[in-house]
Amino acid sequence: MESTARSPARICRGCWDQMHVPIPIRGPLALPFRAFGITRSKMNPNICTICERSFRYVKKQQHISAAATILFADIRGFTHLSERMDPLILSEIVSAFQDRCAQAVWDHDGIVNKQMGDGLMAIFNFPIKIRHHVDAAIAAALDIQRSCTSALRSLDLHADGLALDALGVGIGVHTGQVEIGEFSTFRSDFTAIGSAVNLAARLESQAAAGEILVSAEAAAQAPNLMAGTQTRTYRLKGIEQPVVAQVLFKG
Ligand SMILES: [Zn+2]
Repeated sequence: MESTARSPARICRGCWDQMHVPIPIRGPLALPFRAFGITRSKMNPNICTICERSFRYVKKQQHISAAATILFADIRGFTHLSERMDPLILSEIVSAFQDRCAQAVWDHDGIVNKQMGDGLMAIFNFPIKIRHHVDAAIAAALDIQRSCTSALRSLDLHADGLALDALGVGIGVHTGQVEIGEFSTFRSDFTAIGSAVNLAARLESQAAAGEILVSAEAAAQAPNLMAGTQTRTYRLKGIEQPVVAQVLFKG
């Protein structure tokens, strides 16, 4: 396809990559589709609601096993802060965070699969295929750190006595085979499950504000981005073997 990550696609890149079917999502050709409720997805504006909600139709299966890179991000120190802060300011912080994260993920062709308050889960390599999906996820993580730091600074938070400087984003990245599909009978959108997803989530829970923890497996696939980074070993809840990760700090 001629469109790049930063230019809006005229046809759904998910439907194209998965089925080679051109579904118009922008321009006059998209209008009749819109009349049938087929619009751009909230997971990524370059994919459509067919590939978001009709996984079974798109893949002809309930779920598939696929290679993907998973990114989890959340606001460190947020729970502590939320007990002491005006809900209005909290919601401003969360929207600034979610908007910046989504933009960074979309800029690298990933999808924001789940948003959970002050956290999110992104998938790279489905439904938009990405040749170097680990690189894409790490580049998105670096963008998240950069743009969230400036967003938090510009929010003009007046909170006397609160440790706002400690507020920052922690990110975990891991890659592997995941199961992608619809796993709920009352929700029709797809998600990814499996041990690779759990490990990404656990790494994120260990990341301090400003840190990106990249599993050794993922780091090995992105040597250019990870050169010279620090190595740490973690004992993670629910995972028997010690987990080795490389640490990237926000620039
Ligand atoms: Zn689509």
